[in-house]
Amino acid sequence: MPIYEYRCKECGSAFEKIRPMREAEEPIDCPRCGQVVAKKELSVCCMSVSGGSGNAMAGGCGPRGGFT
Ligand SMILES: [Zn+2]
Repeated sequence: MPIYEYRCKECGSAFEKIRPMREAEEPIDCPRCGQVVAKKELSVCCMSVSGGSGNAMAGGCGPRGGFT
């Protein structure tokens, strides 16, 4: 299962959660303040290809990869 990163808009806390892809967009509770966080920040899959420049997003891991 992929790891997703979320950021709470209430307290600014960022946290990671391993979830099935179909639940990636589902709301999740912030572990720090308990607010419901609905926004997915990014996945570790994309983080692993970031080398510092913007070009990193062009290769590697697009949404069309389709590992379901
Ligand atoms: Zn929070």
